[in-house]
Amino acid sequence: MIPFLDLKAQYSQIKPEIDAAVARVIASGHFVLGPEGTAFEERFADYCQTAHCRAVNTGTSALHLALLAAGVGPGDEVITVSLTFVATTAAILYSGAKPVFIDVDPLTWTMDPGLIEAAITPRTKAILPVHLHGLMADMDPIMAIARRHGLVVIEDAAQAHGAEHRRRRAGSIGDLGCFSFYPGKNLGAFGEGGAVVTHRPEFAHRVSLLRDWGQEAKYDHAIPGYNYRMDEIQSAILNVKLDYIERWTEARRSAAERYDALLSDLSFARPQPPRHARHVYHVYAVRLKGRDHALSALRDAGISAGIHYPVPVHLQRAYAELGYRAGDLPVTEMLANDFLSLPIYPELLPEQAVEVVATLRNAAAPRLSEAVAARVEHPQSVMTWSHNRRAS
Ligand SMILES: *Cc1c(COP(=O)(O)O)cnc(C)c1O
Repeated sequence: MIPFLDLKAQYSQIKPEIDAAVARVIASGHFVLGPEGTAFEERFADYCQTAHCRAVNTGTSALHLALLAAGVGPGDEVITVSLTFVATTAAILYSGAKPVFIDVDPLTWTMDPGLIEAAITPRTKAILPVHLHGLMADMDPIMAIARRHGLVVIEDAAQAHGAEHRRRRAGSIGDLGCFSFYPGKNLGAFGEGGAVVTHRPEFAHRVSLLRDWGQEAKYDHAIPGYNYRMDEIQSAILNVKLDYIERWTEARRSAAERYDALLSDLSFARPQPPRHARHVYHVYAVRLKGRDHALSALRDAGISAGIHYPVPVHLQRAYAELGYRAGDLPVTEMLANDFLSLPIYPELLPEQAVEVVATLRNAAAPRLSEAVAARVEHPQSVMTWSHNRRAS
């Protein structure tokens, strides 16, 4: 039995500290927006190399409030990707704006910057890249295009705590960065949580107001707002876990390196992180033809694998009204059809990685030639990508 992730293993390492932190909050009688939250905000801003952090109740709320703080609203368009969890799209719709999907780069699986300019219209207000699986989108061209066109950039860093692009942390390059502390995320609460980080004090101030009913002071409501506050128990837990995140991230990276080595003689396609990237492996995924067969073979062997995500947002029934069809985002759709996420978490043992890969090899052996074909199916996009890389 190899689970997809193992939250109990992590808790057992730090149980005394967590239990004491939770007990401390309960004894204090202070449960929402208090000293634990303030301490966490300061420390997490530091961790992200930003001036400000505002904790909120979920990653979805973080995205919603970042959009509102940046002035995105009805009539605006936000350029984003469809290869993500639905929350990215939902938050844009909550703001009243319209999501405009562009395709991803076939080698990094994140927003293809070469497609942004063609999607810009007079209504475009923001660009919202997603750091999928823990690898940051190619932020240099994204920022250059945004500055040229006067657009705001909001990073969906829900899967990318501590990821880096040229030594700059996820969340610190765009105008605003959004994080989730859902339990399974790299930094997870014991419940729900999220945060917005930014260099700009006016954005931080707007998020402070919006998350707490628009209150400047108690019962003084400056603007209409929401109840998106983070609770003190979650903040206290995150304060404990923040001391371990670097260690855990390095353990994830080691597990990924082990998978890379074990798979190196096979033709499984993996995302190719640029040399200057620190991938934090929220998810470790490989591309192979016959993915569904491999997934069930792993399941039969007691190994929990997954797909992140099997149906891209533009093809979800819930968002049919946006008007997209199969074929509109070929790279996104190809990846959704053939990528598979292997178990990864800091406590994954070397022998577990060996077992996962052995099972995968058996399942995929007859299909290797097809896997090779999958890599070269889109030569044109690959060429565009290498051109971008040389230019940046
Ligand atoms: C988890 C996630 C979110 C939403 O975060 P919640 O805390 O679950 O609301 C948004 N975007 C991405 C890419 C995510 O993985």
